[in-house]
Amino acid sequence: MKRAAHEVTEPRDAEARRRIPPVICYPVDTLPRPDLAAYQAARDGWEKVDEVVVPPREARSFHVPAGSFFRIVSIDGPQVGDLNLWSADDINERFFSGKTRALHGTHVSTGDQLWSCLPYLRPMATITHDTLDWYGFDAFGGSVHDVIGTRCDPYTHKLLSGAEYHHCCHSNLTRALSERLGKPKQEVEPAVHDVLNVFMCTGFTRDTGQYFMKASPVRPGDYLEFFVEIDLLGALSACPGGDCSAEHSSDVAVCHPLLVEVYRPKAPPAGWTSPPRNGYSRRHED
Ligand SMILES: [Zn+2]
Repeated sequence: MKRAAHEVTEPRDAEARRRIPPVICYPVDTLPRPDLAAYQAARDGWEKVDEVVVPPREARSFHVPAGSFFRIVSIDGPQVGDLNLWSADDINERFFSGKTRALHGTHVSTGDQLWSCLPYLRPMATITHDTLDWYGFDAFGGSVHDVIGTRCDPYTHKLLSGAEYHHCCHSNLTRALSERLGKPKQEVEPAVHDVLNVFMCTGFTRDTGQYFMKASPVRPGDYLEFFVEIDLLGALSACPGGDCSAEHSSDVAVCHPLLVEVYRPKAPPAGWTSPPRNGYSRRHED
């Protein structure tokens, strides 16, 4: 953590060095972009084919075929959701929050894509609608739907408090995946990964760079909608932090359920094909 009071002497040209303008690490001008208009047009006449209610402080899994859509919907009250995604064919291919952040920024919205881990690195899903897009960045530097957080987990909780808590998102996602795959919790646990924090409002403090959260602006009826690029297995946890206005990893916060809806379009978007795995040869030659 950076300290406000420096314990080392600044060089004489410190200010000049600070004034050097930043360069975007990954300019996205050459990134293949989805045809968002075609995706959105494919919603006309779609049919809702499945829905899953995620109870508070629990997680549920769901399957979405490539070429379909799913929505995560706020119902009953403000609630944050922790989302994991895997290729339905191979759970080794999972959502890569770090590279998604590097490509699209700390918080995602309409038009951004959720990328899979190496060596696959292809879009798993594309955000086609975000009713909280209006929020932008607030005066604290906070915004909604981050790919900077990890997921609340019982190990960090044990480290910081010494206590055991079994309904952190990590444990909820582990139970949901275990149930879906019919395998023991300890066996599937390593497949649980850093999340997309749906509806969570987060940022970094300007003075110390610490990760912060604040009450989510989400209200019942808000949703985040995805077009699914490859056959997906998803799991969503209704975080024990509720709207994350105060604390998580406890039974104190008021929590609400979340709804997952799956929609099948009449036809796939014009010109769309499911993306192949990344084309790098994997030779890693010297
Ligand atoms: Zn959580």
